[in-house]
Amino acid sequence: MGYDWDKISADLSQIADVEREKPLAEMTSFGIGGPARIVAQPVDRDEIEAVIEYLWRNEVPFFVIGRGTNLLVADEGFDGVVVGASYDLGEIREIEEGLWRWGAGISLWRAISRAAERGFGGIEPLAGIPGSVGGAVVMNASAYGVSFFDVVKTVELLVPQQGYVRLSSEELAPDYRGAKIPEGALIVAAEAQLVKKEPEKIRSEITDYLSRRAKTQPVNERSAGCVFKNPPGMHAGKLIDECGLKGYSVGGAQVSEVHANFIINRGGAKASDVVAIIRHIRQTVFKRFGVQLELEIKTLGFDEEI
Ligand SMILES: Cc1cc2nc3c(=O)[nH]c(=O)nc-3n(C[C@H](O)[C@H](O)[C@H](O)COP(=O)(O)OP(=O)(O)OC[C@H]3O[C@@H](n4cnc5c(N)ncnc54)[C@H](O)[C@@H]3O)c2cc1C
Repeated sequence: MGYDWDKISADLSQIADVEREKPLAEMTSFGIGGPARIVAQPVDRDEIEAVIEYLWRNEVPFFVIGRGTNLLVADEGFDGVVVGASYDLGEIREIEEGLWRWGAGISLWRAISRAAERGFGGIEPLAGIPGSVGGAVVMNASAYGVSFFDVVKTVELLVPQQGYVRLSSEELAPDYRGAKIPEGALIVAAEAQLVKKEPEKIRSEITDYLSRRAKTQPVNERSAGCVFKNPPGMHAGKLIDECGLKGYSVGGAQVSEVHANFIINRGGAKASDVVAIIRHIRQTVFKRFGVQLELEIKTLGFDEEI
């Protein structure tokens, strides 16, 4: 289907800030990916609602991006509108004792640190995850045995044709790396129940988890985190390592020497390089262990399944 991008851009620019042909490499931690036809950056509730309603009503393909830390974008880019969800709507507040409301665009780091200052914790292992609150809801981000939905009680979403909706964590039925998010919905905020703890203890636990992460993950390289989900009872990274694939590279992309479930962009990597590595890993692991690895990262703009 052909779209009149000039018209869509003109219409959307009446509502929010828009950019044409913005390289998505600039919006992802991988630093990889071609342009989106349009990137729209709504900043308040009215803008967010108007942008989503417009895209839905006109059947324009769109994708909501948080901090882009779990995302591989095709070299050709995305033939649609990327809606930036980096807004925080000014929301980072304690509603009542230990119950925090976090705007979707706030980084997990900021959300956790602010609560820690006030003596509330419970998800310290997640402090080093570089994504947003919205991304952590969609992915049910987790680390060291603790998941975001261990503390999230309610999520506010903007659902096309329904408007603002509040769903409980039970309704969202989170599982390993996902939750039942209604189609086309945008996460607006999450409310989380934290527990009272000594700020000093929270800070030292966070420091400890960050140093564990720094020792076991390529935190200073460009990546999108773990590429594959862990198969039940196994670690994808261990399977890949046991196939001798650490350091395996195609073009500018390489299987990390530090953690085999990370692919890093050593500079100038193309999405096609990453895809070639993904396919090679899958084939090799399947041949050796009979295990099909499933992608954890989200992909955008690819014509064929990876
Ligand atoms: C170095 C490194 C370490 C990492 N370690 C971990 C880890 O320990 N555990 C872990 O779980 N993950 C980890 N990750 C992956 C990633 O940070 C998390 O998945 C994070 O929750 C993604 O958040 P994001 O804002 O970057 O989402 P994005 O990558 O922008 O998007 C991810 C998905 O969420 C959707 N989304 C994002 N925001 C919204 C919104 N507001 N409304 C609707 N949909 C939205 C997107 O459409 C997409 O489907 C790591 C990544 C890196 C680079």
